[in-house]
Amino acid sequence: MTSFQYKKGALHAESVPLGAIAEAVGTPTYVYSQAALTGHFQVLDKAFGESPHLICYSVKANSTLAVLGLFAGMGSGFDIVSGGELARVRQARGDMGKTVFAGVGKTQEEMARALAAGILLFNVESAEELEALDAVGRQAGRRAPFGLRVNPDVDARTHRYISTGLKTSKFGVPFEEAVALYARARKMKGVRALGVDCHIGSQLTRTAPVKAALSKVAGLYAELKAQGHPLEYLDIGGGLGITYADETPPSPQEYARTVLEVVKGTGARLILEPGRSLVGNAGVLLTRVLYRKQAPAKTFVVVDAGMNDLIRPALYEAHHALLPVVKQRGKAVEVDVVGPVCESTDVLARARPLVLPRQGALFAVMSAGAYGMSMASTYNSRPRPAEVLVEGTAWRVVRERERDEDLWRRERA
Ligand SMILES: *Cc1c(COP(=O)(O)O)cnc(C)c1O
Repeated sequence: MTSFQYKKGALHAESVPLGAIAEAVGTPTYVYSQAALTGHFQVLDKAFGESPHLICYSVKANSTLAVLGLFAGMGSGFDIVSGGELARVRQARGDMGKTVFAGVGKTQEEMARALAAGILLFNVESAEELEALDAVGRQAGRRAPFGLRVNPDVDARTHRYISTGLKTSKFGVPFEEAVALYARARKMKGVRALGVDCHIGSQLTRTAPVKAALSKVAGLYAELKAQGHPLEYLDIGGGLGITYADETPPSPQEYARTVLEVVKGTGARLILEPGRSLVGNAGVLLTRVLYRKQAPAKTFVVVDAGMNDLIRPALYEAHHALLPVVKQRGKAVEVDVVGPVCESTDVLARARPLVLPRQGALFAVMSAGAYGMSMASTYNSRPRPAEVLVEGTAWRVVRERERDEDLWRRERA
């Protein structure tokens, strides 16, 4: 589903010309399509049909309140990785009873807050964390519901920085140790086993690693059930990829077929933790060309969005399509599109064929809805971008552009 299209040579988000948004709120600005956000959720939800499942949107992909609010309004649950994300979900009126908490370094304070908030379950990532959760549960006079995040040792065949299911990864409990840990947990008074969890990586474009991982985890689930653990949930994590350039990730239907084929028979309710696949292609980053610059060996286009605004190219060598907001005719030349940040890695696109834009021309950095604003920083003391949500012919600012005062808000000179 794409909600970003040219109409009479002008790139639109739904029915709003992106140029109009840039004029009104300036650049750089993130723009999201409500139709895309809700559409992606509904398509995935429908793909799992009548099979018992709960979609827990992965908050870290895009944690803006307006985005969380949209998902909450559709009955989504949430996958959180910090106390801050817990607070955001509450602020957006998300359902705590549909919220799951992952991460290798939860503090006891974060656990206590989440337990008091009544989350669905904790995805525990180590033996010591399980003991800590037990202590938190006992202190509260309750049994904290948990699943172990197991590491199935499967190569997700994605970028090494976003692979999480290998033996060498910091995430999860080694697969072989899981049964013994559940047995230990049974003797604890502050926890109660409710599920099994895995998440092997992000931007998965093939079904084979998903199948391999889930086969192992479904087997474990069945084994634990047979041992009398009162499990209900099989959490399959997130990771479904999207098309940035020419990737061909499985469709939601194909993904659902793959998953359901492997897990049917377990009788488990599924938890899905999609992030990128719901929000990635629902957002763009608007940026304006500041300067063109001819170096001996290269042509540079300097734009006003930097790696502080969108770090994915610098951090993951990620590719983002760049579309001129006003369609350009002419011969493409190879350019490096770079940001203003004083780092050599602040390159939005390398050796990209583009019709050389005019100074002041606008570009939409496509597929920027996931891990864009949520990873933005103020490095180089650059206030973070504004965010806009489009719905049909209407649009509104859902986060104001930061001001200089915001840069030093908590400082004491
Ligand atoms: C990041 C993360 C997700 C979401 O991954 P996507 O690739 O954005 O779908 C899901 N679960 C866990 C535990 C994560 O850390």
